Amino acid sequence: MGDIIKAACPCGLTSKQIYRGIGFGYFETGYFCEPAYCDTCGIVEGKDASKSFSKCPSCRSKVKFYNPQLNEQEEETTGEPAFSHYLAGKKQWHCPKCKQDTLKFENLGCWD
Ligand SMILES: [Zn+2]
Ligand SMILES: [Zn+2]
Repeated sequence: MGDIIKAACPCGLTSKQIYRGIGFGYFETGYFCEPAYCDTCGIVEGKDASKSFSKCPSCRSKVKFYNPQLNEQEEETTGEPAFSHYLAGKKQWHCPKCKQDTLKFENLGCWD
């Protein structure tokens, strides 16, 4: 269950659709997806946020999550991830391509 979102910035950056949220296998795999970005490559992608280290698909360095809680987590998380509505809390976000805070997330719908 979750939202389908997409990131877009006036500089031309767009992401693929990101299926944000908890997948079917969550309770077995811990997999859940959150938008993350790579400042080196200028891309935004949905990444598995249950791992403490998610790699950029092209340069292999660590990506950063937009959810500030996920970047701070160092100890193992227990229980369900906190799905705060942090994306609604800010209108414009850091764009890894033009480095301005002009990136927006569009909500395309829900999935289940
Ligand atoms: Zn990269
Ligand atoms: Zn941009």
